[in-house]
Amino acid sequence: MQTVLFHSTIFGPIKSRRLGVSLGINLLPNDGKICSFDCLYCEAGFNAQGPGKDGIPSRDSVKKGLKRKLEQMQAAGEKLDVITFSGNGEPTVHPHFLEVVRDVIRLRDTYYPEAKVSVLTNSTMLGRPHVAEALKLVDNNIVKLDSAIAATFHALNRPASPNVIPEGVIADLKQFEGQCIVQTMMLRGDYEGRHIDNTTDAEVDALIEAYKEIKPREIMLYSIDRKTPAQDLEKVGAEELETIATRMRAAGFKVQVNA
Ligand code: SF4
Repeated sequence: MQTVLFHSTIFGPIKSRRLGVSLGINLLPNDGKICSFDCLYCEAGFNAQGPGKDGIPSRDSVKKGLKRKLEQMQAAGEKLDVITFSGNGEPTVHPHFLEVVRDVIRLRDTYYPEAKVSVLTNSTMLGRPHVAEALKLVDNNIVKLDSAIAATFHALNRPASPNVIPEGVIADLKQFEGQCIVQTMMLRGDYEGRHIDNTTDAEVDALIEAYKEIKPREIMLYSIDRKTPAQDLEKVGAEELETIATRMRAAGFKVQVNA
């Protein structure tokens, strides 16, 4: 079984397709995965691998680990574009997410004031006021919306709770009043006898309607880049992503394509 990608709390820096030179923060266990989604394409593998034994890192260990790493990078004259919360699952499930975000912003201001702070989130924890508050503090609040059609959303993202529906996510995202970047994975494929495709005209139309409500400052369209836990998924090529992006741009959105 494919298992977690990141084996430390602070990882990298890595060169990200989307974000530049990125130092990662994994607020999830180093030996397991915790997420409120279980996406077919998750690079960290399926949730079935379990949460592991290490547990989630404490606020203090994140702070100390990041400080140490930033000091080393600064001493070595290394460049840093962004500090990114991602990792083995959904970072906003961390019980001290708001406090950790505040710590990270303070450390960024001290060592790399030009760097951005980004969070990649699946947008499901916005009912918790401290999560929404934290996401309003960061430079790049990158929220996931892969489909605005419930059947596709459930087949592709597989939320832990059946009560999580696109309409609810869209309503939650409106609170950012445009201060968010929506990230949408485009793919098609088969899983457990079912065909999934969020590249159809109906899917793209529904996404555009959702974006009109959310009013994101930018949309990032991307496609599979690494091994996925579901085997029969197809990478959508650069040309097709561009065609979809063109439709979205025609509706007035700024769209970045990462094929
Ligand atoms: S939301 Fe992200 S971490 Fe969670 S299952 Fe989907 S891709 Fe993986």
